[in-house]
Amino acid sequence: MFSAAILTLFPEMFPGPLGLSLAGDALQRGLWSLETRNIRDHGLGRHRAVDDTPAGGGPGMVMRADVLAASLDAAVGPEDPRPRLIMSPRGERLSQARVKQWAAGPGLVVVCPRFEGVDERVIEARSLVEVSIGDYILSGGEIAALALLDACVRLIPGVMGKTESGAEESFESGLLEYPHYTRPREWEGRTIPDVLLNGDHARIAKWRRERAEQLTKARRPDLLKK
Ligand code: SAH
Repeated sequence: MFSAAILTLFPEMFPGPLGLSLAGDALQRGLWSLETRNIRDHGLGRHRAVDDTPAGGGPGMVMRADVLAASLDAAVGPEDPRPRLIMSPRGERLSQARVKQWAAGPGLVVVCPRFEGVDERVIEARSLVEVSIGDYILSGGEIAALALLDACVRLIPGVMGKTESGAEESFESGLLEYPHYTRPREWEGRTIPDVLLNGDHARIAKWRRERAEQLTKARRPDLLKK
């Protein structure tokens, strides 16, 4: 079973949105599991400090290597087969290919930093894989981890209604998805393309393919080059 361990200063943020809808139902049905660990449990001193000022000066605070390592070592044993990730804008950009790979595995250990980030040495010493969800800055790793887990959980067998509902989505074919329509047939003077209403499945498939290609060419030509 896919089991996620989250290391965070804000365990109350989990399961959060993952406790609802598709992911929440699956969590209740035991199709995946979630464990949160509060990094502050390993904080130092009376105030359970987890951060300190950056060596070399500069703004903000840095999460201490010793504190985070103690939290990690308590959460995962040396034989734990799960990939150990740390959310970071410097990391590898999350892709559907990675999501698929991780969803098929034993689960993930995900560190959610706050402040300016974490002491570099703990990333090296615990072989943490840095993962980014895009080129913008969030205030902490939690929302990034939720996005990552949501993407993985929906791919776990049995989570989505039909196994094939996922096969035609954006990125699966290397193309963005074709446009969707549903009732009413006419809305604010706009109609549904005729081809979708005549029941000719070969023509519909061809139309969808063409629209997907046009959209991808216009919006994401980089995907076509791959
Ligand atoms: N000073 C850092 C940003 C810190 S933001 C820098 O310039 O790179 C605080 C934390 O939020 C980060 O350590 C990371 O865990 C998380 N975070 C922010 N943006 C993110 C993103 N795009 N993807 C993944 N995690 C992110």
